[in-house]
Amino acid sequence: GDFAIELDTVVIGSGPGGYVAAIRAAQLGQKVTIIEKADIGGTCLNVGCIPSKALINAGHVYHNALHGDFFGINAKEITVDFTRTQEWKQNEVVDKLTGGVEMLLKKNKVEILQGEAFFVDANTLRVIHGESAQTYEFKNAIVATGSRPIEIKGFKFGERIIDSTGALALPAIPKEMVVIGGGYIGSELAGAYANFGTKITIIEGTGQIIPTFEKDMVRLVEQDFKKNKGVDIVTNAFAKSAEVNGDRVVVTYETNGETKTVEADYCLVTVGRRPNTDNLGLELAGVTVGERGLIDVDKQGRTNVKNIFAIGDAVPGAALAHKASYEGKVAAEVISGEPSEVDYIAMPAVCFTDPELASVGHTEKSAKEAGLDVKASKFPLAGNGRALSLNATTGFVRLVTTKEDNVIVGAQVAGPNASDVIAELTLAVESGMNAEDIALTIHSHPSLAEAVMDASELALGKPIHI
Ligand code: FAD
Repeated sequence: GDFAIELDTVVIGSGPGGYVAAIRAAQLGQKVTIIEKADIGGTCLNVGCIPSKALINAGHVYHNALHGDFFGINAKEITVDFTRTQEWKQNEVVDKLTGGVEMLLKKNKVEILQGEAFFVDANTLRVIHGESAQTYEFKNAIVATGSRPIEIKGFKFGERIIDSTGALALPAIPKEMVVIGGGYIGSELAGAYANFGTKITIIEGTGQIIPTFEKDMVRLVEQDFKKNKGVDIVTNAFAKSAEVNGDRVVVTYETNGETKTVEADYCLVTVGRRPNTDNLGLELAGVTVGERGLIDVDKQGRTNVKNIFAIGDAVPGAALAHKASYEGKVAAEVISGEPSEVDYIAMPAVCFTDPELASVGHTEKSAKEAGLDVKASKFPLAGNGRALSLNATTGFVRLVTTKEDNVIVGAQVAGPNASDVIAELTLAVESGMNAEDIALTIHSHPSLAEAVMDASELALGKPIHI
C-alpha cells in the first residue's frame, strides 16, 4: 500500500539501448527516469564490448612484443602482470566510460533509479531495491533490459565452467581453456587469451566458427587461430558434459560419432544469449513476448501495447550495441511525436578477431536472393602500403554493387581495423552511393581506407593497383 509516484517516460535498463534512449528523450523535452538493477552501462560497457576489446588489445600488445623479432626488435624478458592488465581494463577503461555515461545522464537531467523493475499493468511499475519497494505510474516505457548468457545442460556455471562475464574477469592467464561455441563472442575471447599464451580448444556445433560471416572471411580467422595462435578448432562437435575436479575441468564432446575428452583450467560456454524478458511482468502489462522470449515490436519500436516500447537485445535482430542505441533513439523520438522508424539496411556487424571481420548490407549471396543483379569486387590487402607497413596484409575489401549502375548495396572487410574501415562503406550503403562516388573521393595515403577506393575502381573496371 504505498502511494504511486508519477513519472513521464521510464527507461528500464541502462545499457547502450537504455542510456541512449534516455538521453535522446530528455533532449526532446521528456521528463525521463532510468531504472537500473545493476551497473550503469549494461552488458556492453561492463561485461561486453568494452572490456573484451580492452583484453583483446592487451593480448595484441603482448603477442606483438613476443614476435617483434619479425621487425628486428628483440625485447628482453617480456612478462605479463595480468592483475595489472585487469586493473587497467576495469579502472582506466570500464569505470571511466560508465562514469562518463552517468555524468551524461545527469547532465541531461535524467533521473537514475537503482532497483529492479517489474510491470504491474500497462501504466504501473514496481521497483524493488534491497528491502524497499516503490510503485510508479508512467506515461511511456522503454524496455531495454538486454540479455544474459545461456546456460546449457551439463555445463552449470561456477568457478571452472564460466560465461563471457567470468572469462573477462579471470584473475590469471589460464594455461588451457575450452571454448564451447565459436560464435563471435567465443572467438573474440578465444583469440584474446590465445594471444596471452593460453592453449585454446574451440568446440563448435556447426561446420565453421563465426557462422554469421562468409566462408572466405572466416577461413582467414581459422588460419590465424591454427597457424599463429595454436588454437584447436573442432567443428561439427557436440559438447555433452563437463566434470570439475578441483581447479581442472574435463569436457566430454562428440564428433564424427566418436566421444572425446579435453582437459583445461576453464571451460568457457558462449553458445548464445537469452533476452531478459522472462522476469519482468510483461504479461501483466499485456505485452506479447514472441519467439525465444524476444519482444515483438513494430518499426517504431512499439510493442502491442501502445505506450510500451522495447529495444536492443530484448527484441529480434542482431544482438549488437549499436543496434540497441539506434533503436533507442528511434523509440525516444517516436514518444516525442516524431515520425521516426528503423531502417536496418546499413547495420554493420564486426567480429574483433585477427583479422577483424566486418560486414554491412548485402552479401553477394543475399543480394542475389533478394533478386538484385549484382557483382562482387574483392580487393586484397596484399598490395596496400599501410597494411604492409603494419605487417598485416591478411584480408580484403569487397564491394557488392548492382551491375546496372554500380550502387553499393553491401560490403565486407577483413583486415586490421576492419571495424573502422567498414564505416565509410556503411555510409555508402546508407546513402545509396555508387562505386563512382567513392572512386572519385580522394583517400589519404597510405591508409587502409585506400583499399575501399581500390575496390571501387575494381568495381568500375578501372583498377590501378590490381
Ligand atoms: P544491455 O547492455 O544488456 O543492458 C541491459 C541492462 O538492463 C542491464 O544493465 C541490466 O542490469 C538491466 N536490467 C535488466 N532487467 C532489469 C530490470 N528488471 N530492472 C532494471 N534493470 C534491468 N556488441 C557490439 O555491438 N560490439 C561488440 O564488440 C560487442 N562485444 C560483446 C562482447 C561480449 C563479451 C558480450 C557479452 C556482448 C558483446 N556485444 C557487442 C553485445 C552488446 O553488449 C549487446 O548487444 C548490448 O549490450 C545490448 O544492449 P541493451 O541496451 O539492449 O542491453
